[in-house]
Amino acid sequence: ADTKRDRRVVVIGLGRFGGSLAVELTRLGCEVLGLDQNPKRVQRYADELTYAAVADSTDSDALAQLDVPTFDRAVVGIGSDIEASILTTSLLSESGIKQIWAKAVSRQHGRILERVGAQRVVLPEYDMGERVAHLVTGRILDYIEFEDDYALVKTTPPTEAVGKPLGETKLRLRYGVTVVGIKRPGSGFTYATPDSVVHADDVLVVAGRRDDVERFADIV
Ligand code: ADP
Repeated sequence: ADTKRDRRVVVIGLGRFGGSLAVELTRLGCEVLGLDQNPKRVQRYADELTYAAVADSTDSDALAQLDVPTFDRAVVGIGSDIEASILTTSLLSESGIKQIWAKAVSRQHGRILERVGAQRVVLPEYDMGERVAHLVTGRILDYIEFEDDYALVKTTPPTEAVGKPLGETKLRLRYGVTVVGIKRPGSGFTYATPDSVVHADDVLVVAGRRDDVERFADIV
């Protein structure tokens, strides 16, 4: 079976983004090769990653020498040097790596990265800005948005939903949202049923269209 342990990932650019990503992948059990052209960065992460090496990722010979083309997945964490980020992504794609994630600093940068072979582009600053906006407003404690306008949020319950079975609150009918799970303080997560009675200090996991979920999280 394909488990995390079998996964080999090369992370290029051990800055704040690439460095913490590489450490977390190692913690999850992946075999991680971290590359950076700056020896200090490599030294900083050498003990925490499976392998770490100093290399210029825009040099295809250097990548070949380090067996980079044999890796299943690559993450390009180079941000500020846009030219190096684009060149690296296109070299990785040409070398046959199927799964390439790349960090972009702007939407245009992201579109170019997709064109030269990145399957997934992340915009950490934009994405985090959007996420934090959701956490700053209303009762939302955590927020995940899917591509097709669908969202899953962790929220405290609105007053009107407290003290009666979910089935009687008609939340789905009135707000278009579905309570998926309930977490009571001090006890585990349970799947929500029409008979579940919500308490004021519960945390709910709610799913629905983004607009509906946002509207639901706005009521008090
Ligand atoms: P962050 O904001 O995550 O710190 P940066 O863009 O500042 O991102 O850091 C990117 C890292 O990528 C730096 O450590 C830099 O040395 C490295 N880097 C930049 N260009 C190359 C390259 N051509 N080859 C290898 N590493 C590179």
